[in-house]
Amino acid sequence: MASLYDTAGIEELRSRNAVQPHRIKLFRTALFKKALGWGAALDTLPETARLDFSNHIEFQSLELLERHDSKTDGASKLIFKTPDQHLIESVILRPKTGRISLCISSQVGCACYCSFCATGMMGFTRNLTCDEILDQVLQASQIVKEEGRSIRNIVFMGMGEPLLNMEHLFSALAILCGPSFFNYAGSRLMVSTVGIPHAMARFSEQFPAVQLALSLHSARQAVREKLMPQARKYTLDVLRETLVEASRNGKVMIEYLLLAGVNDSVEDSQVLTDYLRDIPVHINLIPFNEYSGCNLHGTPLAERKAFADRLKAAGFNTTLRYSLGSDIAAACGQLVQHKNGL
Ligand code: SAH
Repeated sequence: MASLYDTAGIEELRSRNAVQPHRIKLFRTALFKKALGWGAALDTLPETARLDFSNHIEFQSLELLERHDSKTDGASKLIFKTPDQHLIESVILRPKTGRISLCISSQVGCACYCSFCATGMMGFTRNLTCDEILDQVLQASQIVKEEGRSIRNIVFMGMGEPLLNMEHLFSALAILCGPSFFNYAGSRLMVSTVGIPHAMARFSEQFPAVQLALSLHSARQAVREKLMPQARKYTLDVLRETLVEASRNGKVMIEYLLLAGVNDSVEDSQVLTDYLRDIPVHINLIPFNEYSGCNLHGTPLAERKAFADRLKAAGFNTTLRYSLGSDIAAACGQLVQHKNGL
């Protein structure tokens, strides 16, 4: 069986069926750029080759198990089953601007155990393969295509820490950007990380055009360590040097979750602006999505706005994020495997 993304395997199928090379281009365009599905992709091939292609290509590595559409906003949560029976989630976000984003997972569970994140509660099972990462994009693209739309941005903000699955992440990014595959501009893709300096450096070197987001959440070492165990290993000092390097490729997005009484004081905003001084960043303030079993609370909207105003006054490009998909538990940090699902 050849993977859909296996160039050598597809070439072998092409040559043994004497298919002209331009037909393979049409086949890939139908699948990856037009998101038409396998049936339509196979129809681009000569009739005599279709059976061999359909018998020897793995068109799907994930099974779409459930789809939940939000009643309050344009989010859809997709629950996929892997071949070894694990559940992962992707979310289609349809904000009012009309620019559709897809949030995808990079691992089954997560090994980072951030105290505010529901995914951490399920522990870590395994990395997703490159095909599993890409199949989320392919299947979501087909859903969005049926609505006459297309996915504009892809963010690695679902389940897992993408930079702890670097090999498969990098292969997936290369195919997402590949001109004969999905052909996404790097600026449409974003990888979000807890902050793993050596991996961030390699990422910046290999994918300078792809956007990087750092989940900072506090510029105080002690607070950050409480929120994110990884912070003990990768301190704010080292992270700052990495940020300076990464921002040479363009602005890095700083994600900052506002938690009542934890990281939202006037002093916290001051420490944050001192920490980020002179680094080209965009700060995105995230509202906390509560979930059962977590005793943290989000900062109320008025205080979130005040925090944003202080950052803006200090000269930082700052936005307040509004959460989509919270009624279907599809918002950030709510992507958690159904324990009784299977
Ligand atoms: N592991 C990566 C990507 C997954 S999380 C990372 O940490 O960046 C994507 C974003 O959602 C991160 O910024 C994360 O801190 C945030 N997040 C996690 N739990 C959340 C919650 N309960 N409410 C709001 N945002 C949350």
